[in-house]
Amino acid sequence: MTPVPDSDQKHAVANLSNLYRIFTVQESPDTTLGKIDQEISQNLVGFLGNRIVATEKDLALIEQDFSSPQIPEQPTFVSDYTEFLMDTLVAQSVHTASPGFVGHMTTALPSFMLPLSRIMTALNQNLVKIETSKAFTPMERQVLGMLHALIYNNDDTYYQTWMHNADSALGAFCSGGTLANITALWVARNKLFPACEGFRGIAREGFHKALKHYNCEGVAVLISKRGHYSFGKAADVLGIGRDSIVAIPTDSDNKIDIDQLLSTIKQLKQQGIKILSLVGIAGTTETGNVDPLDRLADIAADEGCYLHVDAAWGGPTLFSSTNKQLLKGIERADSVTIDAHKQMYVPMGAGMVLFKNPASLASIEHHAEYILRKGSKDLGSHTLEGSRPGTAMLVHSALNIIGRKGYELLIDKGIATASNFADLIEASGDFELITRPELNLLTYRYVPKRIQQALKSVDTEKRASINSELNKLTKQIQKSQRASGISFVSRTRLTPTRYSGDTITVFRVVLANPLTTPEILTEILKEQKQIAIDDELTTEILARIEQLIAT
Ligand SMILES: *Cc1c(COP(=O)(O)O)cnc(C)c1O
Repeated sequence: MTPVPDSDQKHAVANLSNLYRIFTVQESPDTTLGKIDQEISQNLVGFLGNRIVATEKDLALIEQDFSSPQIPEQPTFVSDYTEFLMDTLVAQSVHTASPGFVGHMTTALPSFMLPLSRIMTALNQNLVKIETSKAFTPMERQVLGMLHALIYNNDDTYYQTWMHNADSALGAFCSGGTLANITALWVARNKLFPACEGFRGIAREGFHKALKHYNCEGVAVLISKRGHYSFGKAADVLGIGRDSIVAIPTDSDNKIDIDQLLSTIKQLKQQGIKILSLVGIAGTTETGNVDPLDRLADIAADEGCYLHVDAAWGGPTLFSSTNKQLLKGIERADSVTIDAHKQMYVPMGAGMVLFKNPASLASIEHHAEYILRKGSKDLGSHTLEGSRPGTAMLVHSALNIIGRKGYELLIDKGIATASNFADLIEASGDFELITRPELNLLTYRYVPKRIQQALKSVDTEKRASINSELNKLTKQIQKSQRASGISFVSRTRLTPTRYSGDTITVFRVVLANPLTTPEILTEILKEQKQIAIDDELTTEILARIEQLIAT
């Protein structure tokens, strides 16, 4: 399908006066786009109905709608094109705002985000420099200051001194957690190999010469094995290599194992390998657990090494007076990543990295004559990205409209809902809770009571076989539930200590949408159980498990 009208309809014509129109004339309310625009504005939640996707359609079929590499020779009327979009794109997009969509960190937006995003788009500011952003630059600096204060909580004089200081920055705004983590390790790398007598610094001379000059065998980034894959990308682009990410085992609560960390540090030092950064996770992507940050800060202080905390997901827990102590020690980190497009309910494309020391970002500073002049307040001199949208405006809006107290309520509600859901899973008898939520994220799987009991008594070999069948069961239930289109949980693979060594597939639930009720969660469990009983594949798997138990 292509967005071309029927042959009997009028065609759009490419000429300059028509082109001027698309820059100057607004779509009127009675055009297709105008109507859709109103419908979305007035009824955001109802737009895609109660379904996760409008209709389940195979991806291969959807690809056929987007198969032509040809750039249309002739223009298309906006209305014709919009109809095409509605049928092929919008109808097949994912309804992340649905309260039954609890599988990922992407969730509902407050409705004010839509008109405010429109203002942002209309202004089309470029934050790379003041000449294309003016007031947006101090606003972004203020947003960074607010998040800095949330983490580091310095006094007013500190922020009056540093927030708008041309020679420093409290953080960098970027498109997301990945860019934030890359920026943090970039700073850590440049601080580890600074310029000195006879060496102009790693930023100029590169990794190879840095190792030689500093007489060092290599570098390591130490992070638990639950670390986000963005650190692998960071190591790759920073030229230190993915192998320099050293995954430390976790304890039974999916937190970094401190003894193993200490012995790894000892080994690395004996090999002449420098620690580029120790990384703590405040809310792992898969299980939502928080590393012992205070302990990590002690170790970083002992070793004199850089400490970064990846709080992309869990950072906003700091809004909650009751739950923020879970992140105790975060204020001792050299840098912290927070994603606003996750638990701050800002649209996609809003990440930040905050630095304890406002001089840190100087280690990655770049200047150019026509832009980013030295001494200017241009934000582009210390961001990885060049041209950047004014998304900080949406974070500023959310911080003001929702407020600290509003965020506190949202965070506390998510954590309470997750805890209640965990109780429900445990009480159900036919589900096994795999990770109890520390924040608002938990994992579980469907295991009928009889099989749960058998798992406790069978030998390790049989247990591994049963777990392997259960993995197929979990996968099939998850896929089938997604296909039926009412709710969505994701799945991941974990190696919990209780099954010493068996890797198991689990459902993963993230409870960030305030509209997700206990009733919806009860329904999700009901549907999963029903799929297990009704589905042809799952009944076969369950029969095979029964056989394993019986023999
Ligand atoms: C989501 C996430 C990231 C990556 O952030 P993006 O915005 O997807 O680039 C990094 N770390 C953690 C812990 C995350 O949850």
